[in-house]
Amino acid sequence: MYERKKLMDFEQLKLKYNLPNSEFLSYLRIRAYLETLHKSTYKFHGDLIKLFHMPKKGKTNFTRRIYDFIDDKNTFVKSPPMQHWEREIGREFPQDKWASATKYATLTFKCVAHCEASIKTTLRWYFTPNRLSLMYPGTSACCWRQCGQTGTLYHILWNCPKLKEFWSSIFLLIRQVLQVEVEPTPELALLFIRIATFPTNSRRLIGLILIHSKLVVTRHWKALEPPAASEVISALNTTCRYESKLPTTMINITLRDMTWGPWQKSRHYVQ
Ligand SMILES: [Zn+2]
Repeated sequence: MYERKKLMDFEQLKLKYNLPNSEFLSYLRIRAYLETLHKSTYKFHGDLIKLFHMPKKGKTNFTRRIYDFIDDKNTFVKSPPMQHWEREIGREFPQDKWASATKYATLTFKCVAHCEASIKTTLRWYFTPNRLSLMYPGTSACCWRQCGQTGTLYHILWNCPKLKEFWSSIFLLIRQVLQVEVEPTPELALLFIRIATFPTNSRRLIGLILIHSKLVVTRHWKALEPPAASEVISALNTTCRYESKLPTTMINITLRDMTWGPWQKSRHYVQ
């Protein structure tokens, strides 16, 4: 099942061994077992994420959607959550941008919590004030920070006036550490759209800075005051120490050094 030390995906195996589509679930089981053997951190596979993005057709159950997914595997569908994000941000993004952002978000991080946070944001799984007010009539749909505006996911994570200084500090941090020009946009900060336009050696640290920022925002989203950028710096130092202790079977040393080299050179931030 391996080619050049990489686990083959189901499409490759199908072509090589003439497998029927009905073997897809067996493939998933074997792959999960092999990943356990290698003691690698579980990575959400981009293809599986596409499955969750597939729009529901009527009352079809999840098994039906799996079969639809197998039949329609090569088509990347812009899902309803993606269309919702585009409406809120006020810009449309081409499907290839969504596809590469989803792939980046699901395959880059070593920590399951980071993968989970990025998937939950793209799929809009968070319970925000406006969503809760629809589920529980009578409750307020206003932002928890009491800015007076409706607490949508876009507002709570990005557009709240109380977050303006926080996100400015985060993008300043990226510029200072990585010496790159970066425009503060919600599509990059929340969804990793256009992260592929940055140099390869900067991309992973940018992603880690942004995912930690998002986690810090969600951790404090019920507080009246916005979070501090220092909490993001502290979390990044913890992740840097964690990855430095990972065995080489779990992280590529070149990738680790490329990610954390600029961070460790920024003595101002390293603790
Ligand atoms: Zn607000």
